[in-house]
Amino acid sequence: MPRLLEAENLNVSFPASRHQWRHEPSVSGVDGVSLSVEEGEILGLVGESGAGKSLTGAALMDLVPSPGRTRFDTLRFAGERRSLSQLAGLRGREIAMVFQDPLSSLNPLRTIGDVLVETLLMHGDYTRAAARDRGIELLESVGIPAAQTRFHAYPHAFSGGMRQRVVIALALAGNPRLIIADEPTTALDVSIQAQIMGLLKRLSRSQGVSIILVTHDIGLIAETSDRVAVMYAGQLVEIGETQQVLTSPKHPYTSGLLASTPSVTRKGGLQQIPGAMPRLGAIPEGCAFHPRCGQSYDRCTQQRPALQQQTADYAIACHLFAEGARA
Ligand code: SF4
Repeated sequence: MPRLLEAENLNVSFPASRHQWRHEPSVSGVDGVSLSVEEGEILGLVGESGAGKSLTGAALMDLVPSPGRTRFDTLRFAGERRSLSQLAGLRGREIAMVFQDPLSSLNPLRTIGDVLVETLLMHGDYTRAAARDRGIELLESVGIPAAQTRFHAYPHAFSGGMRQRVVIALALAGNPRLIIADEPTTALDVSIQAQIMGLLKRLSRSQGVSIILVTHDIGLIAETSDRVAVMYAGQLVEIGETQQVLTSPKHPYTSGLLASTPSVTRKGGLQQIPGAMPRLGAIPEGCAFHPRCGQSYDRCTQQRPALQQQTADYAIACHLFAEGARA
């Protein structure tokens, strides 16, 4: 499949103190991430809180909060090289975002229909009547029952799952080619979560929309994503096909994430990764994961492992799998 998005060496940094940028050093929230998404593909970005996955999603839409700075070597969307400002120009049309809390994306004082019509008029060549019809069609396509009537309702009249469906309908209003969904189901209960993920997957398969799914939930990734990118301390540590990475994880961090995820088939109890994700500005030298890694050795404390391509669709950043690794 052709590549829709390709980012090389994406970096997001913040000033190390409250002083201005001219007072270096800075701290990295996203550090040298290179990734791509194919058309119609679902790429999962997974890691604990603070791994840099949401920041990566925000950077790809030029939504990094001030005073953060986004830099990259190259960024291509739909085959064309783009600058950061060009990327921002695609927001809402070619690239849409779905956030964790649907209420933060909806105006409590305006009906769902008003917001949908306004969004459609902004992004498309519609008359008001045509925008209204398209808005109702979008609500139906995301499974809102009695869409004609509910078009006139306010956000408070919808349940959490229905609100998230409305937000997805809003995201679809600009006919996006890429949706960045940041923890889209974290605030929902398990059965609604399954419905929303099923909806996103159907949209991807039937309309060829690419999705970057940002989540800490490895179970969601297993059910939904074609490929998974595991992040730790702002860096990509393992990336490959979901089936391969989750059934035979190689990176000790990925193994730790899986071992700490509830499973009905695993024997023995849950295991936890010792320690915690380092704070920005306190990322250890060498491999950022080494203080928590049970397989760390002297090289890990001194040298940062580079992300190395092992096969055409699999890469890992760990000294254990690098050329010349210890026997
Ligand atoms: Fe563990 Fe070393 Fe691999 Fe880092 S590089 S994950 S510390 S073995």
